[in-house]
Amino acid sequence: MADNQELKQRTYPLLALRGMLIFPHMVTPLEVGRERSIKALEEAMSQNKQIVLAAQIEASVVDPQPEDIYEYGTLCEVKQLLKLPEGQIRVLVEGLARIKVQSYVENEGYLKASVLIIEEDYDDGLEVQALRRSVLQRFEDYVRISKKIPAEVLSSINSIDDPHRFADTVAGQLQLTVEERQPLLEAVSIKLRFERILHLIIKELDLLELEKKIQQRVRKQMERTQREFYLREQMKAIQTELGDRDDRVSEVEDYKKKLKNAKLPKEAKAKVVHELHRFERMPPMAAEAVVVRNYLDWMLVLPWSKTTKDRLDIDQAEEVLEADHYGLEKVKQRILEYLAVRQLSKELKGPILCLVGPPGVGKTSLARSIANTLDRKFARLSLGGVRDEAEIRGHRRTYVGALPGRIIQALKTAGSKNPVILLDEVDKLTSDFRGDPTSALLEVLDPEQNNTFSDHFLEVPFDLSQVMFLTTANVLHSIPGPLRDRMEIIEIPGYTELEKLEIAKRHLWEKQIKAHGLHLDQINISDNTFLKIINDYTREAGVRSLERQLAGICRKVATEIVRGAQLPIRLSVLSLSKYLGAVRYQHQVVEPEDRIGVATGLAYTSFGGEILTIEVTIIKGKGKLTLTGKLGDVMQESAQAAMSYIRSRANQLSIDPDFHEKYDIHIHVPEGAVPKDGPSAGITIATALTSALSGRAVRKEIAMTGEITLRGRVLPIGGLKEKLLAAHRAGITHILIPSQNEKDLEEIPENVRRKLRIDFVDHMDAVLAWALIPKAAKSDQEELYFIPTEDVSNQTHSPWMEEQ
Ligand code: ADP
Repeated sequence: MADNQELKQRTYPLLALRGMLIFPHMVTPLEVGRERSIKALEEAMSQNKQIVLAAQIEASVVDPQPEDIYEYGTLCEVKQLLKLPEGQIRVLVEGLARIKVQSYVENEGYLKASVLIIEEDYDDGLEVQALRRSVLQRFEDYVRISKKIPAEVLSSINSIDDPHRFADTVAGQLQLTVEERQPLLEAVSIKLRFERILHLIIKELDLLELEKKIQQRVRKQMERTQREFYLREQMKAIQTELGDRDDRVSEVEDYKKKLKNAKLPKEAKAKVVHELHRFERMPPMAAEAVVVRNYLDWMLVLPWSKTTKDRLDIDQAEEVLEADHYGLEKVKQRILEYLAVRQLSKELKGPILCLVGPPGVGKTSLARSIANTLDRKFARLSLGGVRDEAEIRGHRRTYVGALPGRIIQALKTAGSKNPVILLDEVDKLTSDFRGDPTSALLEVLDPEQNNTFSDHFLEVPFDLSQVMFLTTANVLHSIPGPLRDRMEIIEIPGYTELEKLEIAKRHLWEKQIKAHGLHLDQINISDNTFLKIINDYTREAGVRSLERQLAGICRKVATEIVRGAQLPIRLSVLSLSKYLGAVRYQHQVVEPEDRIGVATGLAYTSFGGEILTIEVTIIKGKGKLTLTGKLGDVMQESAQAAMSYIRSRANQLSIDPDFHEKYDIHIHVPEGAVPKDGPSAGITIATALTSALSGRAVRKEIAMTGEITLRGRVLPIGGLKEKLLAAHRAGITHILIPSQNEKDLEEIPENVRRKLRIDFVDHMDAVLAWALIPKAAKSDQEELYFIPTEDVSNQTHSPWMEEQ
């Protein structure tokens, strides 16, 4: 091919290119720094701006010699030349033609070569055309795939007609190394050049393809690592779950073990198995799982079949009861009978014992003793304020935080199926819209029904038939009727001063001494001191407050001992105030003098016996009857009955028969904060009324109790012992009680009875005869006219209290 070319030979300055090569028709910027290169450039500029550019074989050679430079190069024209500050020169060159160096001429520090300018051949054969088309196609692919060449380049290349120019422009666009470019430069024949270009593009395309594959692979790899990461994370989560699952498995195993040991009745067992099955499949954190867990815990902890063996030895039982409690003979006797009968007949479903009495008389501790004597477990549940059936029978499981009822809870506490369960304060049960707890309680206490007691929470029946239920109440009359019918009432009245003394000496004192880490011989305390505490620092039917006072003393004594006080410490009547402060209660509470319109009654409240002052005031008016002092319905009715009785007897009592039309009557019972009820104040109200209306004073030392009928008959009352003890405590010496209560007198301790004058009455006439001072004796009192108020009550002629 070279033979066909017209060869021209000329000499040009030569500039060795490092790492690059310029094709003809290319316009390329160059930066020139080497001294020899600059000189060559300067030489070129001084001539016709033409210079030969040829690539170095090794780019790293700094001072290339002819053998370091390729033979083929490009003749270029310097289009622009710009001198940069650091002696560098930037030039813009355009390739003009291929050259082949023929020889080198060393010239004043730069290379100069004699070159042969290669003329381009002209071949427009089909093969060349086909090649051109292939090159173009491939180049298009290349542009598309590599994304390194702007699309405009493609269209400008497309418009080049000259195949040489076309080939060189394409070659110039390809990302090639000098080693790859050089053969293209050297391929003088267009066909060869196209072939080489095609080859290179295809190679490039393969490379790109490969690159893409690699990229994809890398991406995949990346994705895989990411996926792996995700999977690992998931796996961790799953493992945690699995761990949980392990926990769950062991939890379920645990339940199964418990189930085996719990010896549940068939129905309950089936229920637990069912729930356990459900539980196994639930996600551990599901709300439902919590509910089921709670249920299983309850079911498996209850004493379905755990019982304790009863100790039914009567002698031993008596010993325990005696040791624990002073007095209470009747109660102890009754308990022993109960135990005896149980011993003979295991099947006995006797009535429930109900201990009724004021607070602090030992009801709870008696119940505990009963459990002790029987060697049974003990649990106590207070019914005070229970107004919801669900408290007895439990809440349905679907409620959040649902629990079984108190009975089942008590069984859990007791831990046996046959404990003694004390239902405290049955008289404080109330019922409202939430359901009646009484009926639920009735089922609990009914021996016919309670072997299948159903608790809403458990959903399966629990057998309560072996439980020994005991109940307590403060007052009898507020125990719901149906409940009272089921129970055998044992009343524990309050204690007398001497009984309290014994209880304090034998039980409470020792108990407190021990509780405070003291020894009996560290303190000397006399009976009189105890009595002073009982009388001056407490006023109660039981011994609760007494026990508290003793505890107070023990605390103070303990402090003294720790501070190094000399032992034993003497607690005398005189030194008592040092430990308990000033005297709390004055002994004498009777009215200081005989008064008109004021009578003293005796009441029985939930705190034991109390004396009750009833005051009556009469004001001119229209017959209005006002009752104040928190009086209950029954007491109000008593007042009405008393009024009617007096009206019917007005003449005999020398009372104006029309008093009910002319005067307003106000009956007041002080200490208004304490609710008072019951019929036993009837005769006292009638007495105060008669006194006020007739102007006859009431004897101050008399107190009375009894229900009144419209005809004036006096009916018996309850709680006589408490009432008499209260009267005794208050310093009253003369008591009127209904004749029908005479039989109850034997309960009254001898020492109390001896100090009281007790008269029996069965009609109001007798009451008035005892209580009212005859008018003659108070001659300065004018008939009917008086004012029962402090400041004027001593006036001789008391005018009526006028309405303002
Ligand atoms: P209640 O249940 O009747 O309100 P508690 O059983 O709580 O009364 O009794 C209060 C305290 O008095 C207890 O420490 C109890 O042991 C004691 N106690 C009550 N009565 C007696 C008694 N007769 N003998 C010994 N201690 C008694």
